[in-house]
Amino acid sequence: MTRMYDMLQQDITYLPGVGPQRAKLLKDELQIGTLRDLLYYFPYKHIDRTRLYYIHELTADMPYVQLRGHILSFETEGEGRKRRLVAHFTDGHGKVELVWFQGIKYVMSRYKLHTEYIVFGKPSVYGGRINIAHPDLDPADGFSLSALGMQPYYTVTEKMKRQGINSRSLERFTATLFSRLDAPLPETLPAYIVEQLCLMPLDEALRKVHYPATAEELRRAMLRLKFEELFYLQLNILRYARDRQCRYRGFVFARVGGAFHRFYEERLPFSLTGAQKRVIREIRHDMGSGRQMNRLLQGDVGSGKTLVALMCMLIAVDNGFQACIMAPTEILAEQHCATFRQFLGDMDVEVALLTGSVKGKQREAVLAGIRNGDIQILVGTHAVLEDTVDFRSLGLVVIDEQHRFGVAQRARLWGKSAQPPHVLVMTATPIPRTLAMTLYGDLDVSVIDELPPGRKPIRTMHRFDNNREGLYKAVRQQLDEGRQAYVVFPLISESEKMDIKNLEDGYEHLCKVFPEYKISKVHGRMKPAEKDEEMRKFQSGETRILVATTVIEVGVNVPNASVMVIENAERFGLAQLHQLRGRVGRGADQSYCLLVTRYQLSEDTRRRIQIMTETNDGFEIAEADLKLRGPGDLEGTQQSGVAFDLKLANLARDGQILQLARDTAQRVLDGDPQGTLQENALLWQQLQALRKAHVDWSAIS
Ligand code: ADP
Ligand code: MG
Repeated sequence: MTRMYDMLQQDITYLPGVGPQRAKLLKDELQIGTLRDLLYYFPYKHIDRTRLYYIHELTADMPYVQLRGHILSFETEGEGRKRRLVAHFTDGHGKVELVWFQGIKYVMSRYKLHTEYIVFGKPSVYGGRINIAHPDLDPADGFSLSALGMQPYYTVTEKMKRQGINSRSLERFTATLFSRLDAPLPETLPAYIVEQLCLMPLDEALRKVHYPATAEELRRAMLRLKFEELFYLQLNILRYARDRQCRYRGFVFARVGGAFHRFYEERLPFSLTGAQKRVIREIRHDMGSGRQMNRLLQGDVGSGKTLVALMCMLIAVDNGFQACIMAPTEILAEQHCATFRQFLGDMDVEVALLTGSVKGKQREAVLAGIRNGDIQILVGTHAVLEDTVDFRSLGLVVIDEQHRFGVAQRARLWGKSAQPPHVLVMTATPIPRTLAMTLYGDLDVSVIDELPPGRKPIRTMHRFDNNREGLYKAVRQQLDEGRQAYVVFPLISESEKMDIKNLEDGYEHLCKVFPEYKISKVHGRMKPAEKDEEMRKFQSGETRILVATTVIEVGVNVPNASVMVIENAERFGLAQLHQLRGRVGRGADQSYCLLVTRYQLSEDTRRRIQIMTETNDGFEIAEADLKLRGPGDLEGTQQSGVAFDLKLANLARDGQILQLARDTAQRVLDGDPQGTLQENALLWQQLQALRKAHVDWSAIS
């Protein structure tokens, strides 16, 4: 085993056919430095060389296929950039169009009519018909079906191609490598797991993922490799959570006392929803159990998480502890602070605010109050975390609207004291289940799945930006009834001049259209004080329209606002659109969200807008988002949480494998809590090696 391991550590330079020059390219362009790297550089597709398909069998979801037949005629269609060459191709039974957008002249001179060719390509649908774009054609004489099976295709960079290394070269390298492996590659999963789950052994899977004989073999090889990736990821998370539980005892909040009861009985202006009650019960139980709580509270926008946070903090206070809530922005922190003070009224609970704008004497006073324990509830920004804030007895930390608060950040928090406080992470950004299992896999989860009564679902409509009259009419109607409106402009990067100009123009324009109403304007380029002042004016109702960039994305609560206009909605992602929309519909009135886009939209955008107009359900939207974008794009997955690189597994598509991996990891831990069973020795060894390769994780576990 060790010998094989050593062999795989060998420099790629010494693989026959590589040499120093190519080795440097492989290293620079693809990070392939050793034989092992090459082994784990997987093909992005395979072409099935084992059989010919009939044209009438083709469907758009097929991989690359090969056909045999001849070209009946060529024609060029379209003008300018849309100009394309179409070859009408037949196999004697059916017809299909082969399409080229580039190199038209070359194609026409190279391929002859009525000559037998083998066509390789991926079928797709265009205008309701199957076609094949940019296929490869080889003369059919001398063609025979390959006994080798599926041919692998590897991604190479342009620079490599210019220097003569293409997919075929990589194919040769991997083939050489396999021919030189004289013993099976050592297994990385315990035999009993491989057996129970009928997985392919690692050696076979690695060979087959490059050189499968059939599509089914490829699928099984992928399954094995994906499972392994996800399994170690889950094992790491679950074991880590377990270790933490053993290591840290939680503060015991034994009683629910005066502050909580007085608030519940005398101050609460409405009754809690069933979901809020259930969640508070779960949290209360956790905090009284002697375990340190690490809980994620998910609840769609407007579901009333802030109130839940406050009541949990009151439990901490009742037990003689301090509590702290952290918001992502100063505006939100101030809003929470004001909300809490208003909710608590004349109750004897000391609430203080600490943000970057709290300075000088005032800051000194707050810091002193935190130190001596006078301040019982601290409201701050996430920055407080980094600060040297010194609590007398911090018992509970609530982190609001922070879906990016991954494992590493939480670990930093626990590091702050010998006995870490209970932690509650709240998020309205719905996280698809598969992602939550990974990003928050070590947390217990509570869900508020019910909105306060009387809320009417927001009506979402799609408008094209060339029809402004209708749009303004709808907005004016709401303003005339005393409501308020948001108008949001995209601002992808705060430095983009065009975006700022768009917003400024939009603002001027709205001032002209609505001369009778005062309008606020907020964007990230403004000074914080100015920004806050404008927000305050809107919150108090002094201004009736708020023109803003996405700074209002999270948490802002102005129940009187009933219209959300999103300009250039095509530039926002689904999760963001949903967050923005959640700023309205917070009162009892019917609210509206108007998504404004240009007329011509891509298929993806059309789909996004359609989903928005069809559902208000955050979880449905999150799942759709994950499918449309893939998890790599979802904010934060890279920085925090998904600890090991996923080479093959895809959180959007491999939900079932992930579940299997998690269940298996759970079973292993349940059956071997001390990690002492001989049959699992390999597991802990592998995990250790993986952790070593990922510094972030080894540092905290
Ligand atoms: P989010 O979950 O998005 O943070 P908030 O906590 O801001 O939601 O709550 C949205 C609004 O609903 C607030 O005005 C809050 O006071 C109100 N609210 C919360 N719980 C209830 C309830 N049980 N009944 C009625 N209104 C509630
Ligand atoms: Mg909130």
